[in-house]
Amino acid sequence: MPNYVVGHKTPDSDSICSAIALSYLKTTLGEETVPARLGELSPETLFILDKFGFEQPELKTSYAGESLYIVDHSDRVQGPDDIDDATILGIIDHHKLGDITTSTPLEIWVRPVGCTNTIIKMMYDFHNVEIPKNIAGAMMCAILSDTVIFKSPTCTTADIKCVEALAEIAGISDPKALGMEMFKVKSAVEGTPVRDLVLRDFKDFNMNGNLLGIGQLEVIDLSIFDDMKAELAADIAELKTEGNYHSVILLLTDIMKEGSEFLVVSDNDDLTEKAYGKATVNGSVWIDGVLSRKKQVVPQLQDSLA
Ligand code: MG
Ligand code: MG
Ligand code: MG
Repeated sequence: MPNYVVGHKTPDSDSICSAIALSYLKTTLGEETVPARLGELSPETLFILDKFGFEQPELKTSYAGESLYIVDHSDRVQGPDDIDDATILGIIDHHKLGDITTSTPLEIWVRPVGCTNTIIKMMYDFHNVEIPKNIAGAMMCAILSDTVIFKSPTCTTADIKCVEALAEIAGISDPKALGMEMFKVKSAVEGTPVRDLVLRDFKDFNMNGNLLGIGQLEVIDLSIFDDMKAELAADIAELKTEGNYHSVILLLTDIMKEGSEFLVVSDNDDLTEKAYGKATVNGSVWIDGVLSRKKQVVPQLQDSLA
C-alpha cells in the first residue's frame, strides 16, 4: 500500500504541486508515495499541470487506515474528514500551526515562507535529490501563485531564490512573465457560476469556537467583478446560512492595486471595524495593502474574535 501526500480541501496550486513534488522525492528516497487531492482543481492549477505535462492527482477524500503526508495546511477542518483514523507521516506547511495532532512520531517541516514548495525545495536539497525539469516548473509556478509574484507580504528571500533556482532547472527565462500569464488565467471569471467563484479558494477556520469561511479571488483588475458583486454578496449570505457560519468573507484581491475588497456577512456587525478600524458599508469595505489571507486576515480576525 503506497503512502499518500495530500493538501487542503479546495486544493490550490501549492497543495497540488506540493503533493506531486513531495511524492516524487519520497518515492526516490525509497518510500512509494503518490499524490492525491481532496477536491476539484482551479483553472490556474489545470494550466500549470497542462504546461508541465502532469495528470491530475488522484481524487481521494478518505484515508482511514492509510499513511499520509499533509502539505500546505495543519488545521483539522481543512484536511481529510477521517484524518483521525489515518497515520500522519509528516506535515510540510507554511501557515500558522493548526490543531492536527498525532499518536505516532512524525516528520515536520514548517517554515514561515511564502509557499510550501519553497520548503519542499529545501527538502530536495537536504536529501541531495535532483529535481526533474517538469516538477521544477510546477513548483516554481506554485511559489509565484502563493506569493502573488513576490508581492505578498508572505514572500521571503528564500522564495525568490527558490524561484530563480527552479526556473534555471525548468529552463524558464522569465518566471515573472509566466506568473502574469497564470494570473490572467486566474482572472478569467466570466461565465463561471457564482457559487464556484465563492468556493474557488475557500477555507474554513475555527476561531475561538466560531466557524468562519474565508474565500479569496485574486485578479489583475477588480473591475471584472463590477457586474457580479451583488450576486457574490447574495451567495455568501446563502452560504452562511447553509453552512451555519459565524461569518463568511470573500476577499476580492486586486494584485495590481495591491489591496482587497472584503465582502462580509457576519453575526458581528463590527467585524472589520474591530479588525481593521474600517466598517463595512452595505456589506463591503476596501482595505488597502491586504493581499494575504494567512498573514493579513486570519490573525486580525482571530484576535478580534478572541
Ligand atoms: Mg494553499
Ligand atoms: Mg500555500
Ligand atoms: Mg493563496
